[in-house]
Parts: sequence; C-alpha cells; structure tokens
Amino acid sequence: MPKYLVTMSGEIPLRSHRTRPRFYRRLIENIEDAVEREGGKLIKSEILEAKILLESDREVGALLAHIFGVHRVGRVLEYEFRDLKDLAEWVARNSIERVRGKKFAVRVKRSGKHSFTSIDVAREVGSMLKPYSTGVDLENPEIVVEVEVRGNKVFLYEDSLRGPGGLPIGVEGCALVLFSGGFDSPVASWFTAKRGVFVDFLHFILGSTESTYYAFKVAQELASRWLYGYRPKFLIVDFRDVVAEVSKKVDWSYRQIALRALMYMAASKLAEKLNYDVLVTGESIGQASSQTLGNLSSIERAVNLSKPVLRPLIGFDKDEIIEYSRRIGLYDLSSRVFEACAIAPTKVVTSTSREDVLRELEKIDLNVLYKALEAVRVHDLLSSKPEVVVSESDLEIDFIPEDALVIDMRNPESRRIKPIEKAIPMEEVVWDTIPRDKVIVLICKTGSLSLLMAKTLREKGFKAYSYRGGALAYFKKACRVK
Ligand code: ATP
Ligand code: MG
Repeated sequence: MPKYLVTMSGEIPLRSHRTRPRFYRRLIENIEDAVEREGGKLIKSEILEAKILLESDREVGALLAHIFGVHRVGRVLEYEFRDLKDLAEWVARNSIERVRGKKFAVRVKRSGKHSFTSIDVAREVGSMLKPYSTGVDLENPEIVVEVEVRGNKVFLYEDSLRGPGGLPIGVEGCALVLFSGGFDSPVASWFTAKRGVFVDFLHFILGSTESTYYAFKVAQELASRWLYGYRPKFLIVDFRDVVAEVSKKVDWSYRQIALRALMYMAASKLAEKLNYDVLVTGESIGQASSQTLGNLSSIERAVNLSKPVLRPLIGFDKDEIIEYSRRIGLYDLSSRVFEACAIAPTKVVTSTSREDVLRELEKIDLNVLYKALEAVRVHDLLSSKPEVVVSESDLEIDFIPEDALVIDMRNPESRRIKPIEKAIPMEEVVWDTIPRDKVIVLICKTGSLSLLMAKTLREKGFKAYSYRGGALAYFKKACRVK
C-alpha cells in the first residue's frame, strides 16, 4: 500500500498548542474526504510533528497536492531500523537503481535521540551508493536521495510534489462568492478557500442561461479539484427581471453601477439569511470602468451591507489572474463564460459619488429584487448536473447542454441547406428508446412549434425544452460565437 509523508504549511505547526490539534484534525478529515471522493480509502494517518504519515489503498499523491494546508507531499518507503548500519544499508539498497550512472547527493533530516548525526547517515549512505553512480555532487546533483529519520523509523522519499499551501478548509468561517464563472471570480474563490474558508457560490442569471451553465461547470470543476471536506453549494438567483427594471429606469451610463449595487444588496440579504461571514468578489482595482476605486467605494457605501466584501484579487493584473486560472485548471471552462454586458456596452461613468448611486437606486422598484431573491435555488455542486441551471418549470432554453439530444423539427429542405450540428430529424426519433431523464432540445424554425411540442412531451414525462427563437436564433448565435 502506498505511503506518503505530508508536510503541512509552515504556519500550521506554529499555531498555539490549543489551535494546532483542531487544524491537524481538519486537514486529516479533508484528506479523508478527498481520498473517498476518488473511491479510495485512507488506511492510516499519523501525526509526526509537522508532518502526517498516510497510508492509502491507492496512489493519491497528485490528489494530496491539491489539498489546502499541504505544503509538500512525498511518496515514501518506511523501515524500522536497528542501528546506523542497518539504516544505511536499507536506504542504499532502495536507491541503487535511482542513482545508477548519475551524480547524486544524500540529504538527511533527523529527529529523536540517536547515537549518530544526520551527517553520519549521509556519509554512510553516500559511500555505499558511490560505486553505482558517477559520483557525489552536493551542489548540482542529478538525483537527491532524501532520507528522514524519526525515532526508530526511517523514511526514504521516492518522489515529491508541491502542495498549494494555505490552511485546511474549515478552520475559518464561510464565504459566499459572487460567482460569474469568468476568470476572476473562480480565482478569487480559490484564494479564499486556500485560507481555510468554506466557499459557496452565488450566481445571478443576467441574460442567457448558457453563461450560468458554464459558470456551474466552472464551479463544479473547482469543487471537484480543490474543495474538500464539505459539500459546496451553488446558489442561483434569476436576475433577469432586475436587469429589465434597471434598463427601464436607469440611464445608460449608470446601469452597470446600479446593477452592481443591486447584486451586492441581494448577496448581502442572502448572506445574512444563510449565515455567511463575508461576501467575496473577483474585483480588482481599475480592471473595468465599474471597478475604479471611486466606483467600488461609492457602490459599497450606497448599499447597506450586512457583511464585509472581500476582494482577494484587488491588486492582481488581468494576466496574473489568467495565469492562476490556468494553474488551477479552470482556464478552458472559464473562457467559455461570456460576459453579459449588453446592459451597458460602452459608456460607464468612472467616478460616481455615493449620492449618485443612491439617486439611481431610488428609481428601482426593490420588490422586483425581493421577488428574485425569494426564488433562489440552491444546488449541491458535487451531485447536481449542470442542466439544473435551467429551472424545471422553464420550457424554453437558450443554449444546448453538452449531452442533450437535439431534435430538428424543420422541413428536410431547411435541414439540408443549413444543418444544425448533431441534430436528428424529428421523424427519425424513436421515442421509446429515449430515457426520461435525457435532456431533449427541440428546434423548429422560429421557436413556436417547438414550444408546443415541448409542452406535449413534458406531459408524457420527457425532459424536453424548446430552443428559444428557433433556428433563426440558433444560427444568429452560432455566427456571433465564431
Ligand atoms: P469575472 O471574470 O469574475 O467574470 P469580470 O472581470 O468580468 O469578473 P465584472 O463582470 O465587472 O468583472 O464582475 C466583477 C465581479 O462581480 C465578479 O468577479 C463577480 O464577483 C461579480 N459578478 C459579476 N457578474 C456576476 C454574476 N452574473 N453573478 C454573480 N456575481 C457576478
Ligand atoms: Mg464577469
């Protein structure tokens, strides 16, 4: 069974003796959760000062390198030795193949009482391995034989990976991230979780539910790669009526700002009701005109927030954020979330006062916002499918989920001239073979026949949707995407 020595982040062992056990316990629980999510089992976990010795029923090195609170993970061999000679022989025996024909160095760490020093161990092992190698090179070795002696046990590192550092998730409080799914808010979520915070995600549907679909997928990817020890949630608030209210009542140049203020307000209300400690956004100073220092300040002061807003990316440049997005493994999915910026495409005032924002908010009927909040939907990220972003009661959909069955209701001539990708013609569908939980998207010419058909199919128990606007909308969108 593979064994690992996990080095915790440097600051964990420095905590007071009262805090430390809680941090250790939490880290081990999170590791257990990670291994179990992969279908594995932790066989043993033992705390050895600033390290944890783990044994699991499968290889989990790469997984452990994704757990906050882990500084380094080494896959190790373990041996209980009698004396220095026995120790050195065991290490040498297990290292011959690695050093063969290479320049090497032996590095030793030791704790406990012994009749020998670390240097004695290095010297002994070094002289045993030398004949197999091309020599010892302490400055620039090709291979490092890394040995750790603890009491009567010795560990030999086979390989090692760097962990993300930080604190184990769960030792701090809970954050609600305003999550659009673009590059910034996922990276902001990652940095917040890295400091031991439980993060849940709050997404506002501003336009197309396709953005929401990808935002959900980004959050799901983030949760399954990095968020261990709890079940992250994805909260959806349909803000389209709020967007419409803003468009109706607020001047072009203030729409972005008013919308942002309303998002803060809504998030604050939810955070209060659901007991989150803070709100988090992906904002950074000056990244967009709505994020100038003046606007950030005026917007926040204009709304009476129940919780502080944290902005982990406040000092990051966009390219630094994108670099992190790649490293975290979210770049591809995040780049599919497009911005719902049609509400104010260009002109945004860059310097507002609190009074300006208040004046614009006065125009808004807040009942629209409260109604949207009442209909909040909460999904468990790990067990839900991304299609849940489209409300069950919706008959129309404005995108095609990846594993949906697409049915083309148009006439053969239209289908031949302008085929729809992956669609099958209506008359070829064998209804008996379609599972009732399969998402079906019907596309007709304009979206009206398909709506009737979707209704009928729903009554028969199928998960059918009509593509909003039909083939006309479908092709218009396909052009824009290209
Ligand atoms: P991102 O890359 O996170 O989409 P951005 O650079 O596009 O950010 P904005 O669209 O101005 O910037 O949004 C700034 C922040 O506001 C986001 O990082 C996020 O925290 C929040 N936000 C924006 N849109 C939404 C949304 N639809 N739902 C929830 N939060 C949002
Ligand atoms: Mg955005």
